[in-house]
Amino acid sequence: MTNTLSGSCLCGEIAFEIENQFDNFYFCSCAQCRQITGSAFASNLFAKTTGFRWTKGEEKVKRFKLPNRDIAKTFCPNCGSGVPKISADGQSVMVPAGALNGEPQMPLPKRIFQRERPNWATYYEAYDAFERFPLR
Ligand SMILES: [Zn+2]
Ligand SMILES: [Zn+2]
Repeated sequence: MTNTLSGSCLCGEIAFEIENQFDNFYFCSCAQCRQITGSAFASNLFAKTTGFRWTKGEEKVKRFKLPNRDIAKTFCPNCGSGVPKISADGQSVMVPAGALNGEPQMPLPKRIFQRERPNWATYYEAYDAFERFPLR
């Protein structure tokens, strides 16, 4: 038995549902993911498209493809959030984990392209942690 997760962009114009069953979970620190997310790494789940469907705004999904590279980003043109990306062959879907409204039944994540990880993110887990902005 599998359950279903919903997800959306921040403004809600694009939404989707997916079977809570994923094949891979990658934290990718490559330079392209750093720039595409504006963060230390991208957190992407991978699944078969059979369990995936758009529930809102599929026609609004914007796609940026890096010329001469097999790198693309799909996002909401209204709020800029990353949204799921269907592979070129239509067989698999990459889901930005942060777009999900629930917890994925996850395969153990793998950290990839670690040599491209920025120095400021190297000791992430060791830095002081707070529930909110720290008081001054
Ligand atoms: Zn949006
Ligand atoms: Zn990457």
